[in-house]
Amino acid sequence: MSAEPSVETRHLSAGSEVTNILGTSCAGKPVAGSFIKHWEKHSGCSRSKCAAQGCLNEAKEGGHVKIAGGPLSSLMKADWWIIPVCKTHNKGLSCKSYKVDSVIAVEAPPKFNERVRSWKHDFEKLGQYLKEKMSKLSI
Ligand SMILES: [Zn+2]
Repeated sequence: MSAEPSVETRHLSAGSEVTNILGTSCAGKPVAGSFIKHWEKHSGCSRSKCAAQGCLNEAKEGGHVKIAGGPLSSLMKADWWIIPVCKTHNKGLSCKSYKVDSVIAVEAPPKFNERVRSWKHDFEKLGQYLKEKMSKLSI
C-alpha cells in the first residue's frame, strides 16, 4: 500500500486567467473517484457555482486547466490544475481561456502519456492562434 502523494493547492484571485486543457476527457481518474471529488477533498471546500467569472451555472465537474491566459503562455506552463466548473466551461469551451472568480485550484499532475497528448493539442492551438493573427495582418 502506497501513501497518496501530497497535492498542492493554489488560491487564484478574482480575474485570474485560466486555459482549458484539451484531450483530458480520458485522463486517468484520481483516487477519490471523480475530478470534482478530488477538488473537494484537497481544497477542503464544497462549491455550488462554476468558477468562471460571470457564470451562474452549477459546478458539477472538475475542469483541467493551466493557470495561464492564451495559447502561448499556456504552452509554457507544465502544471495542471483542477477547478470546479459547469459542463459548458469544462467541455463546450475546450481550449478557450477565461477569467475566474476567487477560487482554490487543486493540482492534478498528469501521467506521461496524457502530457504528451496535451502537448500535441497545445501546439495545434498555438498554430491556430498564429494563423488567426497572421490572417488579420495581411489585408
Ligand atoms: Zn460555467
